[in-house]
Amino acid sequence: MVNAKDIRWDDLTFSLTPTAFMYVSTCQENSPWKPGKLEPFGNISISPAAGVLNYGQGIFEGLKAYCAKDGKKVLIFRPEANAERLADGCNRLCMPPVPKDIFLDAINQVVKANREYVPPYRADKVAQGSLYLRPVVWGTGAILGVNAAPSYTFLVYASPVGPYFKGGLQPIKLLVTSQYHRAAPGGVGSVKTIGNYAAGLFPKHLAKDAGFSEVIYLDAVENKYVEETGAANFFCIRGNTIYTPELNGSILPGITRRSILQLATDKLKLKVSECRLPIEEAVQADEAFASGTAAIVSPIGQISYKDKLYEISHNQIGPLTQKIYKLLVDIQHGVERDTYGWMHEVQ
Ligand SMILES: *Cc1c(COP(=O)(O)O)cnc(C)c1O
Repeated sequence: MVNAKDIRWDDLTFSLTPTAFMYVSTCQENSPWKPGKLEPFGNISISPAAGVLNYGQGIFEGLKAYCAKDGKKVLIFRPEANAERLADGCNRLCMPPVPKDIFLDAINQVVKANREYVPPYRADKVAQGSLYLRPVVWGTGAILGVNAAPSYTFLVYASPVGPYFKGGLQPIKLLVTSQYHRAAPGGVGSVKTIGNYAAGLFPKHLAKDAGFSEVIYLDAVENKYVEETGAANFFCIRGNTIYTPELNGSILPGITRRSILQLATDKLKLKVSECRLPIEEAVQADEAFASGTAAIVSPIGQISYKDKLYEISHNQIGPLTQKIYKLLVDIQHGVERDTYGWMHEVQ
């Protein structure tokens, strides 16, 4: 653990700064989850034969707690949505789903116990820090044959974080890959399961070496339609329509994605199109951005596709992208009234 008093809030990036406490709960196969408890953040001990280590029976979530503008309240963004997505993912991976009340109580306890690690609200800054919360469910029981593990661990840890991409709201440069795919129809692309992210390391590494921040993945069948950008959802805007790939089973149903679609409809009166989005059309958009809990809204300035570099919005953050970013972060920090019931105040 790092002493909260030693943290330089302005220098935070998206990396681990261990906090004081984590939450741990366990569950035996065929018996219900029991409420867990807080423990000092630290190493855990599991069998080398644990299901998660051998067969990837593991899933994670990501959500954030924000310091409100008043400097006192701490607000968590849409934790019920994470609880629901985690439960769906557990079912897909043959793990006992964590009940919503246990999940929400765990989140609340972790934020409360680590209150001094929530970055302060900075009225003079566009980009704000936050306390990133990382819930995981792992098959921690020992199993030799390929099968569901006999016991499970639900754990939540936290880390104060800054911007996901270097430069915060600086437009990013992305590489479309036709050679690698993130997910296939009928697979687990719509689940935040751990193996999906190991599979993405190599393509990301290649893109980084070539001077790009991330890759854009296309669909695995026709190599034609945009799926996602790294671990974030893809959006583009043309005229007064905002486009994003439809949830087809291989795309992760982002909570930020869902929230942006709502804000674009209600507050910006944009037309929303969830569709099969050809990459050829996406590169011609007026604006584009990636969305996620970590990425928030990251403007896309350049996309390389088939050895041609396309510039979007003159490699600047687009005006509507800027508005969407502000609408979202203002709700998250209690600057703008939350008419949706998205924000949970930590009790
Ligand atoms: C987590 C994630 C997202 C974003 O989801 P949010 O709920 O908005 O954080 C998008 N794509 C992938 C692959 C992800 O893992």
